[in-house]
Amino acid sequence: MKTLQPTGFDLKPGQLDIRWSDGQTTQHSMAELRRQCPCATCIVERDKLETPAKGLASLRVIQSDKPTVSQAQILEVVPIGRYALSFRWNDGHATGIYAYNVLRSGA
Ligand SMILES: [Zn+2]
Repeated sequence: MKTLQPTGFDLKPGQLDIRWSDGQTTQHSMAELRRQCPCATCIVERDKLETPAKGLASLRVIQSDKPTVSQAQILEVVPIGRYALSFRWNDGHATGIYAYNVLRSGA
């Protein structure tokens, strides 16, 4: 099977369009991508938020003056090798690696 590669990106307010080597375009909500960030830091943060007993962690997140997830905006798309993309976000985050197959299947 031929490996799909992105051939271009369109950064729109709140939305990322990815053009692929097979001619298809997938559209992604930036808020959704930010929420699904697969890096270790975000997975730990999500675990805290999903555990009511650890309410302090949620409070800390809510009181943060960083942009909220719904305001998430990608500033830069950074290709990682030939299999994944990384995004630089307006909240300063940039460690999530999104594999091509995840980006394709999630659209
Ligand atoms: Zn992350």
